[in-house]
Amino acid sequence: MRDFSQDHRWLSINTATVRRQRGAEQPLADIIEACARHGITAISPWRDQVAAAGLPAVSKLVRGHGLQLSGYCRGGMFPAVDAAGRLAARDDNRRAVDEACELNAACLVLVVGGLPGALGGRAAHKDIALSRSQVHDGIAELLDYARASRMPLAIEPLHPMYAADRACINTMEQALDVCDALDPGLSGALGVAVDVYHVWWDPKLQAQIERAGTGPQGRRVSRLLAFHVCDWLTPTADLLNDRGMMGDGVIDIPRIRGWVEANGFAGYSEVEIFSTGNWWQRGTDEVLQTCIERHRSAV
Ligand code: ZN
Repeated sequence: MRDFSQDHRWLSINTATVRRQRGAEQPLADIIEACARHGITAISPWRDQVAAAGLPAVSKLVRGHGLQLSGYCRGGMFPAVDAAGRLAARDDNRRAVDEACELNAACLVLVVGGLPGALGGRAAHKDIALSRSQVHDGIAELLDYARASRMPLAIEPLHPMYAADRACINTMEQALDVCDALDPGLSGALGVAVDVYHVWWDPKLQAQIERAGTGPQGRRVSRLLAFHVCDWLTPTADLLNDRGMMGDGVIDIPRIRGWVEANGFAGYSEVEIFSTGNWWQRGTDEVLQTCIERHRSAV
């Protein structure tokens, strides 16, 4: 396992972590400048932040600072009530792949969607199996496009509390089942994003991480494309926006990092914290400095 205690060269900042300081949306350019100032060499931005700043401008900034993208957030949201909705999702996901390529991202992260309409407060139906089959078909179709663009797709299993509105893939096992079905040759085009917040509780986590690092006949290949960290607070006050700083909660992050690294993951540790009540109330420099310290001591 890599030693993170001496420096932060493997730290990446998911730009949502510092996007809404004291209620004000921070321009992505400012976040990038702040990361550069702190010697942070990788980020993972969100599509809406990139759209607001303009893709060419972001691309220029990223290249100018020599920044890497540990991932690009995000594609997915495949289920829809009708064919037109699914076509719209297909086209939007293709644009996400194109943007990820322009930014030279390590992967496009997929939050696959749940029951159509649920995110807006009114689910169109209750058939989660239907949503899962549409997710399967949507990823299959996008995979052809992404493969041609050489952009790996990383399915991110989300905690089951988001099954209705954000993602009906909720465990590593489910995500890897989709990977095995759609990419049996382990080409590298399809894998998973392991976010400790979503999967830490899973009794099968270690076994599934081992599965992700083992190909046919025990060949060493890895479907582990991204590793996201934050912490699970007790109590958790908000289902979406009360994630903790690493070290402040109950997740044994070093243990999970040990598992992913033993199974072929050698990329960035990406800090992804949505925190209305705490970290979004602080200044960007303080948050980034804390991320650096905790990356060294608690990841
Ligand atoms: Zn994540």
